[in-house]
Amino acid sequence: MSKSLKIVRTVKDLRKQVGKWRADGKSVALVPTMGALHDGHLGLVKLAKKKADRVVVSIFVNPTQFAPTEDLSRYPRDEAGDLEKLGGVGADLLWAPSVEEMYPDGFSTAIVAGSAAEGLEGAIRPQHFGGVATVCCKLFSQVSPDVAIFGEKDYQQLIVLRQMVRDLNLPLKLIAAPTKRAADGLAMSSRNAYLTEAERAIAPSLFAVLSELAADVSEGADLAAGIANAKRKLLASGFSSVDYVEVRDAETLAAVDRADTAPLRVLAAVRLGKTRLIDNVAV
Ligand code: AMP
Repeated sequence: MSKSLKIVRTVKDLRKQVGKWRADGKSVALVPTMGALHDGHLGLVKLAKKKADRVVVSIFVNPTQFAPTEDLSRYPRDEAGDLEKLGGVGADLLWAPSVEEMYPDGFSTAIVAGSAAEGLEGAIRPQHFGGVATVCCKLFSQVSPDVAIFGEKDYQQLIVLRQMVRDLNLPLKLIAAPTKRAADGLAMSSRNAYLTEAERAIAPSLFAVLSELAADVSEGADLAAGIANAKRKLLASGFSSVDYVEVRDAETLAAVDRADTAPLRVLAAVRLGKTRLIDNVAV
C-alpha cells in the first residue's frame, strides 16, 4: 500500500526529522541514490526496512562524480515517478537537496578515495570515486544513519566506501544488496534507458560472458587466457568496445594471480553505442 512520503530539501529540516526519530529511540537506514528509480533501487529500500525502523532515501545527482565529458546533463530525472515508487515500498523520508544546498558557495573540502579506487572504474573515470566518497561522507554526516545500503551492482563503489568508513571510523555500518537483474540477466540501471532496442538485445551478453568467465575461473582456468577469451566474446556479441575485464580480490579489489585462495570477483565495463555498462559477478 502506498503511503505519503515526506520530502525535505534542507539539511536543517532533515536533521529536525531524524532528530525526532532519534528522540523516540528509532534506528535509521539511509539508501543513497541518484534517482530515476528502478526495481534495483527499490530492493535496497526493502532491505533497509528490514535493517532499521526508519528509512531515508536520498536522491542527488552529484555533479562532482561526473567528468565534463560524461552524461550529467542527460542523466534521467523523474522525481514525481520516484516519489510514487518510494511510497509504494514504504520509505519514510526523501532527502532531495539542491546542488546549492549540498555544495554552498565556498565549499572546498574533499575526500581522497583509498586504494580500492585504483584501477577499474578509477582508471577510466579518475575523478569519480573522490566525488562519490565526498558526497557519501556528507550524506552520512547529514543523515547520521545506523546503516547505509549500497548495491553490489556498483561493486568498486561499495568497496571504496567500506574502506572510507573503516579508515575514518565513521559510525555506521554499510550493508550490501545483491544486483537485481532483468529476466534476461541484464543488471537494472538507470542508464539502461539510453539503450536503443537493438542495443538492449545485445546488453544481456555482458552478464552471460562474465558468468562464463567466473565459472571458468572457479574451475581453475588461467586468468589471462580467460579474460582475453571473455573480451573476444564481448566484442563478438556486438559491444562497441571493452573498457576492462578483470578478476580481483573480492574484498579489497587487489590484483590477484591464480595461486590466490581469497574470494574473487569478475568486474567489467563495456561500451554499447553511446552507453557505458558495468557489471560484476562473484567467482
Ligand atoms: P545510482 O542511483 O545508480 O547511483 O544507484 C544507487 C544505489 O542503487 C547504489 O548503491 C547502486 O549500487 C544501487 N543499484 C543500482 N542498480 C542496482 C541493481 N540493479 N541492483 C541492486 N542495486 C542497484
